[in-house]
Amino acid sequence: MRFIDEFRDAGLTQKLSKRIARISIKPARLMEFCGGHTVAIMRNGIRQLLPPSIEMLSGPGCPVCVTANHDIDRAIALAGIPNVTVTTFGDMLKVPGSYSSLQKARAEGGDIRVVYSTQDALQIARDNPTRSIAFIGIGFETTAPTIAASIVQAQKEKLANFSVLCHLKMTPPAMKALLDLGEIKLNGIICPGHVTAIIGTLPYESYARDYGIACVVAGFEPVDILQAVEMLVEQIEKGDPRVEIAYTRGVKPEGNIRALELMSDVFDVTSAAWRGIGTIPASGYKLKDKYARFDAEKVFKIETPPAKEAAGCRCGEVLRGVVKPPECKLFKIMCTPENPIGPCMVSSEGTCSAYYQYGDFNE
Ligand code: SF4
Repeated sequence: MRFIDEFRDAGLTQKLSKRIARISIKPARLMEFCGGHTVAIMRNGIRQLLPPSIEMLSGPGCPVCVTANHDIDRAIALAGIPNVTVTTFGDMLKVPGSYSSLQKARAEGGDIRVVYSTQDALQIARDNPTRSIAFIGIGFETTAPTIAASIVQAQKEKLANFSVLCHLKMTPPAMKALLDLGEIKLNGIICPGHVTAIIGTLPYESYARDYGIACVVAGFEPVDILQAVEMLVEQIEKGDPRVEIAYTRGVKPEGNIRALELMSDVFDVTSAAWRGIGTIPASGYKLKDKYARFDAEKVFKIETPPAKEAAGCRCGEVLRGVVKPPECKLFKIMCTPENPIGPCMVSSEGTCSAYYQYGDFNE
């Protein structure tokens, strides 16, 4: 198949759905790690195309959602420092921190600008040489190469007024942390397509080898996801867990070597705080010392009061796959996309947001 329409073909999805129902005998609990997959699954009614033997759970794969309140608070505090312009992707604006959000900080006079790429942030730095332009670096391995490239570019241009508040995270350690917590028993993982395009499949080998979990890397169209489920079910039924790629048009087993080299030039691996999971060793990126002049943590003195969580919000449990959004008492009542209490309702890839938008169709 070559064209996107073919990956949305209703006839093919029906065929795959029937074949999965035919071959799925054992109960199978599958988790999609990636928020992009969560939205695609909900939007396309994929759960309704699967037999009762298969249960689907959503994981911690929305980068905005897993950002700890403490880190959001630091981004907001950065915007309060005189002469600082904060640049950020739009998803971050409405995310509530402990006491405020970037949107509220902007309404109160903070210079906070939404950008569509790190190149936009660099351009703002070039156009405003007397201001300090800080980019909020939230994301996974898909975003890390573009942020690394912006830092290398800033170094090349000697852009002294550009910096990054780096809260980038690595997905495989978070998945391993979830498995080690043991709260949920999984048989298979739908591995993230875009992340794997960068990091390759090697990091997932231990899930299959050490935890006996089937792993298939999937794309984001209905046929992509059902193909991945079919491959997972085949592995589970045969008792032969391994790592396979369904998303062959986007992913190579070795990943993107150039992107990995760029990331290893700019970043060191560090521990990172994950909402709902806690601090996970070696699960985040920080700027190497040689790029310290672009590290907002080092350039600015950022001070925040102790972080706190919104009362009643169950985002942490949602992100661990322990509860589904309707199990949160605030869902759809107090917490809506217009008035979000937690980040899972804000982000376009958030599980609560996906349930809010497509839940009636799915339930
Ligand atoms: Fe948090 Fe709202 Fe989701 Fe409840 S519905 S877990 S308050 S984001």
